[in-house]
Amino acid sequence: MELITIGDELLLGFTVDTNAAHISRALAASGVEIVRRTTVGDEAEKISQAVREALDRTGAVITTGGLGPTSDDLTKPAIARIFGRGMKLDEGIAAKLEGRWRARFPNSTFPATNRTQAEIPDGARVLTNRHGTAPGIWLEDEKGRWVAMMPGVPREMRGMLAEELLPAIQARLDGPGSVVLSGTLRTTGIAESAIAELLGPNFLGDPQTELGALPLAYLPGVAGVDLRVTVKGLPRARAQELVKEAMVKLRSRVGAYAYGEDDADLAAVVLDRCRALKLKLAVAESCTGGMLGERLTNIPGSSDVFLGGVIAYHNELKKELLGVRAEDLERYGAVSEQVALQMAAGIREKTGGDVGISVTGIAGPGGGTRDKPVGLVWIAVHGSDAKARRFHVVGDRAEIRQRAAQAALEMVRRALSNG
Ligand code: AMP
Ligand code: MG
Repeated sequence: MELITIGDELLLGFTVDTNAAHISRALAASGVEIVRRTTVGDEAEKISQAVREALDRTGAVITTGGLGPTSDDLTKPAIARIFGRGMKLDEGIAAKLEGRWRARFPNSTFPATNRTQAEIPDGARVLTNRHGTAPGIWLEDEKGRWVAMMPGVPREMRGMLAEELLPAIQARLDGPGSVVLSGTLRTTGIAESAIAELLGPNFLGDPQTELGALPLAYLPGVAGVDLRVTVKGLPRARAQELVKEAMVKLRSRVGAYAYGEDDADLAAVVLDRCRALKLKLAVAESCTGGMLGERLTNIPGSSDVFLGGVIAYHNELKKELLGVRAEDLERYGAVSEQVALQMAAGIREKTGGDVGISVTGIAGPGGGTRDKPVGLVWIAVHGSDAKARRFHVVGDRAEIRQRAAQAALEMVRRALSNG
């Protein structure tokens, strides 16, 4: 199956193509693989060309965008032409659109352009839009090749996909369904190349075997490196077994760096550990400016573990609110082991928490020196004992701060796993 997203705003980069990602994921979960995605602008000729080519390749095409009432909405007639179909006004849909309009704007007349949304290609099946006005269209030829058109507005598209299109696609899939299933092992604190070295080639096994043949993707990001395996075209039970085997195998080699699977969030993992150990957390943040608190409070139910913290950006606040010693700030600088340790101890004492975490670093782009370059971050964890670690993280300012917050959470996770 292929996917075509339509809109000048997508090509120009003003709108991120979230529809494509959402549809790919939803279809994979139903066992359907999107083999190619295309984006075209609001031009009838470009739309029909892209759809014609995709139909020739796979015979099954989904489009989003260009179904509205305005002059840049050209999808329906452009695709109807490929199928050699004319357009006809569907009086039932037109009446519904008009009713909706009158309910919302009782004192104005229904614009004629809005009626074009009720124009349906001959022989098409309508995909009902319960979240907006533009109906979706399913058009099929005598050979069973089909195009499904959905609106571009993400909320409308998501509703139509779940309520109308996925059931229609599932009804066509014959036999006991095969699936496309992924499993992700989330690691942090280790570089992609270092993982590759640890795993070596053909880590999952001989490529002739089912397990060894699974593609293994390395996906680096600010949270760390995700390792993803994907099984295609097998029954669900077998696919689940294989994914599980792959995860166990990967953990056997890189388990020390793994904090969870699939959508796991390190902040949630840390909160769970603390909850199990009945520990309260507090943070003292400098360069992350509250990101650590944001990561923790973003997790529902964090209040029973997370006490709060202090953003001590200026040195005066480090002294006054956290008890960092003036001589040490002077002597070692704000980004130093001594200051990180005192910040963590200070917030622990101030809040009465069991674990204090501190982050102090140089986020850049300015402010770096030879001894203390941009990306230098000191993180300390003060619990039953105290520990500080020096990190050198890479990226622009935003990335450095995100990586620092993640590194701090990972340091807590490790401290708690080691007792
Ligand atoms: P349209 O159905 O083409 O009139 O699109 C309506 C609005 O939906 C656009 O202004 C975009 O904001 C949004 N949109 C369209 N296509 C996409 C897409 N592929 N991903 C995310 N948003 C989209
Ligand atoms: Mg558009």
